[in-house]
Amino acid sequence: MYSIKELDLQGKRVLVRVDFNVPLDEHQNITDDTRIKAVLPTLQYILDHQGRLVIMSHMGRPKGKAVDKLSLAPVAKRLGRLLEQEVFMAEDCIGENVENQVNGLEDGQVALLENLRFYPGEEDNDPEFARQLAALGDVYINEAFAVCHRAHASVEAIVSHFPETAAGFLLLKEMKYFKDAMEKPRRPLVAIIGGAKVSSKFGALENMLPRVNKFIIGGAMANSFLKSMGFALGRSKVEEDLVEAAGALHQRALREGVKFYLPVDAVVAPEPGPNVETKIVPIQEIPENWMALDIGPATSRLFDEALYNAKTIVWNGPMGMFEIDAFSRGTISMVYSVADSYALSIVGGGDTDVAIHSTGQTDRISYISTGGGAFLRLLEGKPLPGVQALGGLEIHE
Ligand code: ADP
Ligand code: MG
Repeated sequence: MYSIKELDLQGKRVLVRVDFNVPLDEHQNITDDTRIKAVLPTLQYILDHQGRLVIMSHMGRPKGKAVDKLSLAPVAKRLGRLLEQEVFMAEDCIGENVENQVNGLEDGQVALLENLRFYPGEEDNDPEFARQLAALGDVYINEAFAVCHRAHASVEAIVSHFPETAAGFLLLKEMKYFKDAMEKPRRPLVAIIGGAKVSSKFGALENMLPRVNKFIIGGAMANSFLKSMGFALGRSKVEEDLVEAAGALHQRALREGVKFYLPVDAVVAPEPGPNVETKIVPIQEIPENWMALDIGPATSRLFDEALYNAKTIVWNGPMGMFEIDAFSRGTISMVYSVADSYALSIVGGGDTDVAIHSTGQTDRISYISTGGGAFLRLLEGKPLPGVQALGGLEIHE
């Protein structure tokens, strides 16, 4: 995979895949433009090097049909303000009219194509759709880490049409942090894994086991491990069919000298909800009809202490049902433990990201990944189709 810096961009139509899938309110206002701001360095670089910038993105899930509310037009306006220059909004993402518009761009001008997912060919990785997109550029840049785990036309099939392709600065940064953490980490390397289900993260746990020095497990997924140890967890969420596999992974970790931290207490309630009665109990004393919905304060202290000597931390998944105030303390406390640590800290995951933002500690984390699914896929040790298409993880700069 080449860096954008390796390409000659002057006078060329530079087709850039980004992730402008931003949240909109009911008036089509952009409520959070983080994703737009994240790729500005790459867009500015192209413009400063006299490229003719052609941007493509998806938005929401229009399921292969044009949906007015999922037009990228609001993004074109916001992007224009951020770049302080006009952004031409194309009426479509393929076709003769769009080609004419793109071919009319002058050096240093910008066009944004309409939502790629208005065509089923995008998600189907359709070669013909990819060919039509490719007709809009002379060089191709991927700057959409968040969709690199998907073999979609604008991410994968399109690439073979270009003699020159490269990764944008954001994608390069994602790869660099991932490699620093997983390939040659400063040790101890600690993986903190939480969230709703063991099943969605079992592959990541297995792949990381031979690489990490410690696991810290929280969230509902800890329940399956605790169950395998014989604890009675009341009505807590347990994935029964994975209890045995969880137990085996735990044993393997201990055999191989990987420290394995599980919760020792929990915040419990009769049911999940904002106004329910809650209690803090040791893990061995969860009442019969109650559920563990967050790690308790003793666990937070334990996990904090286990992070003291960490040199590298990789975190994915909240420690509890943090969306509800009563069950958010474990996750908030973990945010501070990670932020306060001296380690290189890399965090990924949609919900984990939300939790960190809610505490305002984002600047104290070394790197927060911009792609939940793609980040998890990397932790699983699986290739990302978008990155493979560019030539793989190795970066040529
Ligand atoms: P991420 O998006 O960061 O990868 P996940 O999607 O795997 O994280 O998990 C987040 C979800 O897990 C949240 O919706 C949270 O409410 C839920 N969760 C965490 N702990 C528990 C628990 N003990 N009981 C029920 N749900 C939980
Ligand atoms: Mg999630």
